[in-house]
Amino acid sequence: EAKAAGKGRFVFFAEGMDATIRHRKQIEADLGAALDAGNQLEVYYQPLYSPDEGCITGAEALLRWHHPEQGMISPALFVPIAEQSGQIVKIGEWVLEQVCKDALTWTIGSVSVNVSAVQLRRPDFAERALMILDRNGYPAERLEIEVTETSFIENAAGCEANLARLRASGVKVALDDFGTGYSSFSHLRALSVDRLKIDRSFVSGIGSANDGSPIISAIMDLARASGLKVTAEGVETIEQRRFLSGVGCNSLQGFLMAMPMPVAEMNDALLRGTQPA
Ligand code: C2E
Ligand code: MG
Ligand code: MG
Ligand code: MG
Repeated sequence: EAKAAGKGRFVFFAEGMDATIRHRKQIEADLGAALDAGNQLEVYYQPLYSPDEGCITGAEALLRWHHPEQGMISPALFVPIAEQSGQIVKIGEWVLEQVCKDALTWTIGSVSVNVSAVQLRRPDFAERALMILDRNGYPAERLEIEVTETSFIENAAGCEANLARLRASGVKVALDDFGTGYSSFSHLRALSVDRLKIDRSFVSGIGSANDGSPIISAIMDLARASGLKVTAEGVETIEQRRFLSGVGCNSLQGFLMAMPMPVAEMNDALLRGTQPA
């Protein structure tokens, strides 16, 4: 059986190969073609807002893939495949390059870029990232990278060395999806981070039977004691926003304020300055 994978490419799969593996292999091949084609990948931006004034304080870069046949494919689906194949290294550098170009003239605090464990473990990750910033004239102080705690399970020393190198140059570091992974308070003290991003699963429970607010309050106490900033992600209701402002979150991100958007729309949002009322 042969399936077309992008223009002029054919990938042959053994008959009877497990459907999941076949699907994975197809995505992998198509992703390779997407990187070559150059027009299928796009970086979207989701603004972060100050809890009080509703000013835009930053933005998170979120990768989008417009697949020629399947339409938009979620990063939640293709990023894990790209991590396993190693393609995430090249994709990650492409994203960073794009962010440098898109955000060069923005005056907001910083733009956050997701970095996979596979990237973070590579000995040359920090050096190559700094090279990309440098050749685009993008100030390191205006970049934040988002990493997850689970990254540090493997080659913790290598990950830590990359973070230290980046932070020495002014890049900030956030712990993404905080509270869902491998959280240990002693471990957190040893990590070089500037910000915690409270995972959406705690935020979505605010005001419901499965209330995550005690955990959020505990995270806030921990952050204050450790001198860390906090962003809450996945803010969808006014009630959630009120609670998160009340406990002292530094910034809020979620569909209530804005969805991730193409760069042109982000530029417009920045011109307007604050969130729509
Ligand atoms: P993440 O870094 O935790 O990003 C936040 C995700 O939550 C995004 O999903 C965003 O669209 C979504 N989100 C934001 N506000 C809300 C809300 O109010 N409600 C709900 N239900 N969702 C909200 P997205 O864009 O699908 O990305 C999924 C994940 O894919 C990201 O999770 C991140 O882990 C990964 N990812 C995205 N772009 C990149 C990238 O450039 N590189 C790497 N390595 N991973 C990426
Ligand atoms: Mg993130
Ligand atoms: Mg997150
Ligand atoms: Mg997440």
